Amino acid sequence: MDEDEHNVDIDKLSRLQELEIRISELDIVHQGSADADAVHTQREALRAQIDPLVLSRFDRLRAAGLAVAHVRGGMCLSCNLSIPQGDLNRINSGKVEPSCPNCGSFVHVDV
Ligand SMILES: [Zn+2]
Repeated sequence: MDEDEHNVDIDKLSRLQELEIRISELDIVHQGSADADAVHTQREALRAQIDPLVLSRFDRLRAAGLAVAHVRGGMCLSCNLSIPQGDLNRINSGKVEPSCPNCGSFVHVDV
């Protein structure tokens, strides 16, 4: 059995980003409502499952925009630059951290 060579769980990060975007919307319209509280609770539970170092990078990226960007047709949708095929292969194989070599965003590669 292989050990994980990195500890970035892109699905969790992607879900966390969705929750945080929902929170920013809920906080505007429904601050303090039961809905908003439930989403805050989900977000805290999710954050607790993520490596603190990964989380602090996530927060830095979020402060500047999107922390998790989709990659389509080999292009990072955060910086709109292509990711070299060799890097994509390594990301897809799970051998390296899934992040864009150009802008540093975590990437979710759509296949
Ligand atoms: Zn990028």
